[in-house]
Amino acid sequence: MTGLRLSILGCGSATPSTRHLPSCQVLDVRGNLMMIDCGEGAQLQVRRMRLKWQRLTDIFISHLHGDHCFGLPGLLSSMALHGTTRDITVHTFAEGIRLFSAWTDFFCRDLPFNLHYHEISPRGGEVIVDTDAISVTTIPLRHRVPAVGFRFDEKPKRRHIIPEMTAHYGVPHYLMNALRDGDDLVLPDGTVVANELLTRDADRSVSYAYCSDTRFSERVVSAVEGVDWLYHEATYDNALHVMAKKRYHSTAGEAAAVARDAGAKHLIIGHYSQRYNDESLLLRQAQEIFPDTILAREGMGIELM
Ligand SMILES: [Zn+2]
Ligand SMILES: [Zn+2]
Repeated sequence: MTGLRLSILGCGSATPSTRHLPSCQVLDVRGNLMMIDCGEGAQLQVRRMRLKWQRLTDIFISHLHGDHCFGLPGLLSSMALHGTTRDITVHTFAEGIRLFSAWTDFFCRDLPFNLHYHEISPRGGEVIVDTDAISVTTIPLRHRVPAVGFRFDEKPKRRHIIPEMTAHYGVPHYLMNALRDGDDLVLPDGTVVANELLTRDADRSVSYAYCSDTRFSERVVSAVEGVDWLYHEATYDNALHVMAKKRYHSTAGEAAAVARDAGAKHLIIGHYSQRYNDESLLLRQAQEIFPDTILAREGMGIELM
């Protein structure tokens, strides 16, 4: 796999329904799984979608509304029962740490893995994860309660070895990583072989931003500027824009305007109100402004490239 793989576990709003589960996604970052929000039903979807919880490293909670975090104690408790041993970090606000620690202290004693809580600021604009593979930056959202989105930027990847060429020059195995990093090859007689002859370009790095829940906001537009893939909530259709504003949510048209103004390449909409029996109206309204829009649905896996 070259890019990031996004799995949609839940994309409804408010409560679980017969059509949708509340917000939850999993991003596969070079084999490590990062969960974004953890609505009710998260653990069931992890199993249905055959995601390996042994690979889960981080859980990011956007805000403290139940439809974004009620799945957390159940998920952690089941992971313990299934013998997961890898450390997990939950990224949440100070209030979330107080709340979730009370749950996990009571329900998840003697976990077979280390559970870390990482306090994040509700102001946004903070780099909260920075590894060789990815950086994660919070996005300031405008919601009824403090809320942030998350922007994932893949780090530059390594170049690909051209096996016929390295065989031709008899490159020893221990030099391969230096070639992947872009070094030229120096032969025993001092001849320099340019890296471009031995390797081809690395795959491009991909970016993804998750923005739910929020009103339309110019600050969101700047924070997601140039992103390849944007997930933006579109709780309501355009006719309900007054209600959307009052409830600090977005319409389909507003989600699309964020994607357009930010210069995003692709838009995924979700966090649908339960008033819709199907979301084709939301899709049409978003596509009028930003044609490259798709609807999120449970069970969907998308290769972000
Ligand atoms: Zn919500
Ligand atoms: Zn909310």
